[in-house]
Amino acid sequence: MTATYRFPPPPIPAVPVRGSSSSYAVRRIFCVGRNYADHAREMGGDPNREPPFYFTKSPDSIHLAGIDLPYPPATKNFHHEMELVVAIGAGAHDVASTAALDAVFGYAVGLDMTRRDLQNDAKEKGRPWDLGKSFEHAAVIGDIVQATICGHLAAGAITLSVNGAVKQTGDLADMVWNVPELVAHLSAFYHLGPGDLIYTGTPAGVGAVVRGDRMTGSIAGLGDIHVAVV
Ligand code: MN
Repeated sequence: MTATYRFPPPPIPAVPVRGSSSSYAVRRIFCVGRNYADHAREMGGDPNREPPFYFTKSPDSIHLAGIDLPYPPATKNFHHEMELVVAIGAGAHDVASTAALDAVFGYAVGLDMTRRDLQNDAKEKGRPWDLGKSFEHAAVIGDIVQATICGHLAAGAITLSVNGAVKQTGDLADMVWNVPELVAHLSAFYHLGPGDLIYTGTPAGVGAVVRGDRMTGSIAGLGDIHVAVV
């Protein structure tokens, strides 16, 4: 039996793979909260090593770097969160951290764009973060670089500039939970597989952008992304 749809199926969100003619179809987007101690402090949290926590963004939040980023509706406080993104490329369920990197296909530079006013309002009321975190264009991402090319990223500078001024700076080595630990932990809750992206948290210095701002994000080993807010 051939399936028919009342409306055409939506396009599959996908991210270019650097040096490849094929792209990476996105299934799910997981995001880690407070994964750098200095950012946990600036958000009022305890940077001690509590278990990681997560929220998700809809796959159609994907916004490719280099394309102008529309300022979203219903916010007056649109924040950048510069993050390393992990792209899963093999099945992983309940894996140990020592085996977790086997499931990592590659890495990308990303921005977990946030309607901070809506997120803070939700936090105060003990409500879900969806309105603050999951919305159109909220998951900015650059090309995925395959781990076979860039290696597995465990240390190196992560930086975000706005209009040429450095706003966020950190080192991947300062993650509270590193990439293999995150993949292993998350794999206890999900059957991870190809198409699953993990935004691994942001260093200190998050702040607002407005229309006309130009962001440049950089991670050692991956290069730069450029995004203008319009
Ligand atoms: Mn984030």
